[in-house]
Amino acid sequence: MSGFVFSEKPIPIESGEGAILTAEDGTEYLDFGASYACTPLGHSHPAVTEAIQEQAAELTYVQASYPVGTRTETYEKLAALAPGDLDNVWLCNSGTEANEAAMKFARAATGDEKIVATKRAFHGRTLGALAMTWKGKYKAPYEPLAGGIEFVEYGDAEALAETVDEDTAAVFLEPVQGEGGIHPAAVEYLQHAREVTEDAGAALVFDEIQTGVGRTGTLWACEQADVVPDVLTTAKGIANGLPMGATLCADWIAEDYGDHGSTFSGGPVVCAAANATLETVVEEDLPAHAETVGDDLRRRLETAVDDHDLPVRDVRGSGLMVGIEVKRGANRILRDLAVDQDVLALPAGRSVVRLLPPLVVDEPEVERFVDAFVEVLSE
Ligand SMILES: *Cc1c(COP(=O)(O)O)cnc(C)c1O
Repeated sequence: MSGFVFSEKPIPIESGEGAILTAEDGTEYLDFGASYACTPLGHSHPAVTEAIQEQAAELTYVQASYPVGTRTETYEKLAALAPGDLDNVWLCNSGTEANEAAMKFARAATGDEKIVATKRAFHGRTLGALAMTWKGKYKAPYEPLAGGIEFVEYGDAEALAETVDEDTAAVFLEPVQGEGGIHPAAVEYLQHAREVTEDAGAALVFDEIQTGVGRTGTLWACEQADVVPDVLTTAKGIANGLPMGATLCADWIAEDYGDHGSTFSGGPVVCAAANATLETVVEEDLPAHAETVGDDLRRRLETAVDDHDLPVRDVRGSGLMVGIEVKRGANRILRDLAVDQDVLALPAGRSVVRLLPPLVVDEPEVERFVDAFVEVLSE
């Protein structure tokens, strides 16, 4: 198991600032992947660094049953920022754990077993969340996974209505599918999912692990559909690179969630990083910035595709969560971007170049990316 992104040319990274990652040889890479959306404020943001240093010096860790100011602040911040009434907060250490908790809570609160997920979904790699993940390659070597999962076509309202019934504990949806290829859901689909789950007494769970913390132009992607789920899971960018996941729940879920726990839940250092991240995202209105810059990025890409007749099928996304569906292998393009242009991005499947830059990227950086992309695709 190698940790290298490109096995033929590993890029040893030494430092980072904003959207720039600097390699050991001094090369400055433009980071349009933000390590899978984990650094919304950019690398080594001073507010986060300072918060981590201060908290580490004061108290690095104490078990979750003792109230600690820093952790209490995270609970309060997330509760205040949560959509609707999702002010019951469970903290953990990753996205997959946030989804495991959501699965358990939904089953306990409803007393039902069945969970409905969607084709192309990605919800994580532990045996429960993995069972809701679509791609066979991720699952086959590890079976049997958690049972009781049924898959429906993403975006198909009728299929959802037919599958969700009295025995359904939860429906899991990404408001924009990430790993599956950057597919934004129609507003009506999310609203329909809200109605169907409410009628069946099932929990609607939005997996905002990738879409959350401002990425799509609003703090949470579900705001754009005006839908409040029963559970919202988030992780990735929430502590700007420190490991944290969160499961935000409505009262009816929190009232009867069973018995769940995690030793490292809400460690003070991670919470300090999350507090600084959330404060900065809100104070600097980064969701609005993500919307503006994301629109600009997509417009420039579309124009470049037309002007240069690039082999691109589609440019899509929401805010700074952008997918470019290309007519040849995405991995080759990503390699050329890195090696020839000093630009880093991500794949989403074989044919989609995925862009998840830090939310602080500016117009010159967007221009630099688009120029590099045109250069690589024109070859
Ligand atoms: C990354 C991701 C996960 C899993 O998060 P981990 O922190 O890697 O466990 C789950 N759901 C979505 C939508 C993701 O993008």
